[in-house]
Amino acid sequence: MEKEELLKQGRNPIHLICPQCGSAARYDIADRVYHCAFCGSDTSPGEQLDKSRQWQKLRQKKLKEDVKLSSTLLYSCPGCGAKVIVREGEALGTCSFCGGSLVRREYTGNDAFPESIIPFRISLEDAREKLKKWNRTKASLKVKKALSKHIDDLEAYYLPYQFVRGPIECSISRDMSERTYRCGSYVDEIVVNASRQLNNEVLDAAEPFDFEECRDFNFGYVADHKVKIQDIDDQELLRRSKEEVTKDCRKPIEKAMHSTGISIHADNGELERLPLLLPMYVIRKPGLDVAVNGQSGKIAVSLNETIDVNRFWFVEPLMTMLILGLIALFWSKDLELGLLTMAVVGCIAFTAFGQDRSSHPMLKVYTSDRSGKGEKQISPVFREQTEEGTVNVEISFFPLSRIIFYTIGIILFNAMSALLAIFFQWCRDLPISDLHLLYAGLWLVISVPMTFIFWIAFLRRDIFDCPVVKQILPNGKRRRIRDKKGEANIRSFIDFFRKFEIEEFWAGMLLLGLPTLMFVMSVYLIMTG
Ligand SMILES: [Zn+2]
Ligand SMILES: [Zn+2]
Repeated sequence: MEKEELLKQGRNPIHLICPQCGSAARYDIADRVYHCAFCGSDTSPGEQLDKSRQWQKLRQKKLKEDVKLSSTLLYSCPGCGAKVIVREGEALGTCSFCGGSLVRREYTGNDAFPESIIPFRISLEDAREKLKKWNRTKASLKVKKALSKHIDDLEAYYLPYQFVRGPIECSISRDMSERTYRCGSYVDEIVVNASRQLNNEVLDAAEPFDFEECRDFNFGYVADHKVKIQDIDDQELLRRSKEEVTKDCRKPIEKAMHSTGISIHADNGELERLPLLLPMYVIRKPGLDVAVNGQSGKIAVSLNETIDVNRFWFVEPLMTMLILGLIALFWSKDLELGLLTMAVVGCIAFTAFGQDRSSHPMLKVYTSDRSGKGEKQISPVFREQTEEGTVNVEISFFPLSRIIFYTIGIILFNAMSALLAIFFQWCRDLPISDLHLLYAGLWLVISVPMTFIFWIAFLRRDIFDCPVVKQILPNGKRRRIRDKKGEANIRSFIDFFRKFEIEEFWAGMLLLGLPTLMFVMSVYLIMTG
């Protein structure tokens, strides 16, 4: 009886609502519960998951009964494995995805029907018109050439997807750092393509969808359009879903970590997964993949070309090289010294910055607009292990205090010989104007490269190995958590020299002997001339 009630209520779990009052609920990432702003009640992710599974089970049972009554037929393609449901009597030609011929099949228990659907909003004629117009006015020459003769091949399909939602916990590592960060994130309205034949990237690019228009599936929808059902196994679907989830929470984490060079390991075992159908117009030809969103009209086209994602990593070392080279040039007014500095700095910078970079080829997809689900994304919340257990924290890498500390440190270090000479002069009660401050340059010749090496080996790592961590207290205030500092720095310092295969002894000599000599000479010459 209770089950009958639930079914009658027909609350599709894709619409996230408060079980107490039926208003919209939202996930609170700090407290890790779904919160209803209207009545104030909280639902745990586990409860939400149970409700969702229960609903799915009941819907599946009903759909299995309905299919017997529906006048629909199932066809499958021996070539590519596509499974298509059409209404009885519809003439089916060749497979839209590989061109093979379709075979009629009986429904089996394995043919899972999606429980939800977003209906088409745009007609086939309108979609073709949109595509034609875009191709005429906005598309690049290459796309025009490939697409023009195929626009009339555009076909309407309800495509199988899986809707994924829920909280996840991630551990993150960042390039140039040995620290592991932990954060809680939340994904919602992720749809994973459950078709073998269609290109993930192209379908992704045709998103987003408006889930307000999501309905319960019934076989009536087959009367209007062909329905493609899932044809990959559950394991593959799970793999794709993990990939999409990681991709989705990547952007806000990249922002928080100040780097695109991060790797995320997401623990996403307990997410809500709901099969659903989405309206899409597609063209599938060799070397051409087109998807037009049947709800919004967004166009995505791929010609199977790939591009390199990490192609801008060299900006940082190049800038460092130019800036330090130009400083040397202006200070010395000597072209050769300037170029030499540039060459030396360039060698070190490219080696140091380029070490962890690898390039990832990515499929190039042309789209009619860049809309995404951007503003709907929830920023991640970082967590740290303390004596009190796991707490929510705020992490910052560039607090003002640290910037000031570093800047003063660097200035003091480089001006050390001049400052010491001035101090001696002051102690001896002699006029400062007698000093030959030009000889401070002798120390700068060694201190500037040292600052640079320190920056790469110590400070730059230090920033991300030892961030400023502040606990977020229940009353909204922040409390600083002290980190075990030092250890990581020394390790990275030694590693840096190991990389150039310099023995630690020689590194020590180079680091202490030569600078000390230059420093003493610099101070001496400033004072005596
Ligand atoms: Zn409520
Ligand atoms: Zn096929």
